[in-house]
Amino acid sequence: MLIKMTEFLKNLPSKKCTQCGKKIEEQHESYVHTCDKCSKIN
Ligand SMILES: [Zn+2]
Repeated sequence: MLIKMTEFLKNLPSKKCTQCGKKIEEQHESYVHTCDKCSKIN
């Protein structure tokens, strides 16, 4: 059974950075809860 990961991600609401609240567009790293900027700080 093939899971369409892209379809799964499309159905997700837009993720927001837990640090600054900025919308996270990079969805390839689904475990990331902060934007690229904040993730570098941490
Ligand atoms: Zn951020």
